[in-house]
Formats: sequence, structure tokens, C-alpha cells
Amino acid sequence: MSSTHSFRRRRAALLLIILSLSMGVSSCASSGKKAVRDDAGNELSLIEETAHGLFYSPESDDGVRDMIRILSQEFENQEQRITELFNYHSDKKTVIHVYAEVSQFYDVVGRVTEGTYDLDDNTIKIYTPLNLSSPSVRSEYVFQLIHEFVHSVIQQINSKIGQVKWLDEGTAYYASGQLEAELKSPTRHPVFPDFEQVASPSFFDVFNQSAYFYSGTIVKFITDKYGQESLNKVIRNPDHFEELLNVSFQTFYEEWKAWSNHSLMSIVKENFSG
Ligand SMILES: [Zn+2]
Repeated sequence: MSSTHSFRRRRAALLLIILSLSMGVSSCASSGKKAVRDDAGNELSLIEETAHGLFYSPESDDGVRDMIRILSQEFENQEQRITELFNYHSDKKTVIHVYAEVSQFYDVVGRVTEGTYDLDDNTIKIYTPLNLSSPSVRSEYVFQLIHEFVHSVIQQINSKIGQVKWLDEGTAYYASGQLEAELKSPTRHPVFPDFEQVASPSFFDVFNQSAYFYSGTIVKFITDKYGQESLNKVIRNPDHFEELLNVSFQTFYEEWKAWSNHSLMSIVKENFSG
């Protein structure tokens, strides 16, 4: 009787060890919650977990899974490049909510956009269509994801960077590769912004898409002339822009404009004529 009892106790203890071991293993292998809720109350399930990302979506059919598989692979292809560029490291995986229904996405983010990053909940939210078979559509939405990932990296480095919009958006437009792509097939932009326009909080309202282009060229100019390290210092301390680059903002503006006219706009013109 007592030997049966102790056998049962040992078996129970063994089961407990096996159970806790397997729980430990599963919590190591999967660092994301299986399901989360967004601000509009939709339940999103974990569709794909990669080395650095957790991809959630309100839908989980094969079409969404295929689309997210493409996005997550593209994300992993560029994750290290971006984090190394900004000397950023995090042990946490990037949380990405992917919506395939554009109206649902607008409802969640409360405005007409294709992607956003919120520092408050540390979550990238993007709309991506199910069909990414066209190369131009695929690259547009991969750019969108990487653009928001750059925002997430630089805003986690410095939570105040969102207040310096040309730097926040310009860095995202430059580091995502969107600027480079645009320089290869340039679109026409309105007249060069003047100094006050660039510095104004309404720059993006007035210049719309062109503000991304011009802000991106400012960031490219900083890295080309002053180096990536200088850009990293400015991102960490934008209030000390002039001391860090050892130039007044007015002089910097004049240099950027001259550089754009000579080197950058010649690329644009070459592409236009070619
Ligand atoms: Zn942006």
C-alpha cells in the first residue's frame, strides 16, 4: 500500500517536472501572446513569429498568412541593417499589427494613412493588401513596414524625436530606402522649401509628399557630409543640432540647398532625361 502510494507520489512529481520543463521550453520558443486586442476592440492573433518580430492580424486565413510571411521575411532581411545603422539594441521583439482591410485599418488608427508607429503602445500598425504579387505593390508595402520600423527604432532611442518632424520623417524616408528608390525614378516636386518652411511644424501639411522627399534629402546630406555617427548624435539630441554639427542651422540650410542643386538634383535631372 505504502509502496504504491510512494510510486504514485514519484510519478506525480515526475509529471510535474516534465510539465514545468515543457512549459519552460514553450515560453522560450514563443515570446509573443497568442492573441491581443487593438484600440477598436478587434482580436488579433499571432500569425508569424520571427527572430525579431511578432506579426498579428485580425484575420488568419491562408491569404493573410501568405502575405504576412512575405512581410516578415522582408522585415528580417532588413532588421539588422536598421538597428546597426542607429546603434540600437533591444531584447524585445517588434510588435506589428497587420490589417488587410483598409477600412478596418482606418477605423483602428483614426485617420487615412497606410502605416503608423505609436510609442505609447510600442506597436507598428500597417495596412497591406493581400496580393503582393506585383513587384511595385510589394516594394511599396515593404517600404511602408520598414519606414515604420525606422520610426520605432529612433523614437525608442529618443522619445522626443517625433516633435522634430523633418528629422523623424526624413530619417524614416532615408533609412527605409524610399529616398533612394525615388531618386531612381523621381517624381516632380514643388519649388525648394525655404528655411522657415523646413523648420515650421506645418511643413508636412503644406508640402505633403514633397516634405518626405526634402526631409529625406536633409538626412542624406547629414550622413554624406557629416557621417552616420553625427546623424546618430543629432537623433539622440536634436536640440543641440548646431553644436553637434558645428554649423548654424541657417548655414546648414544653405549648404544643403547648394548640395541638392549640384549633386542631388543632377541625379534627378539625369533620370528625368534618361
Ligand atoms: Zn513616417
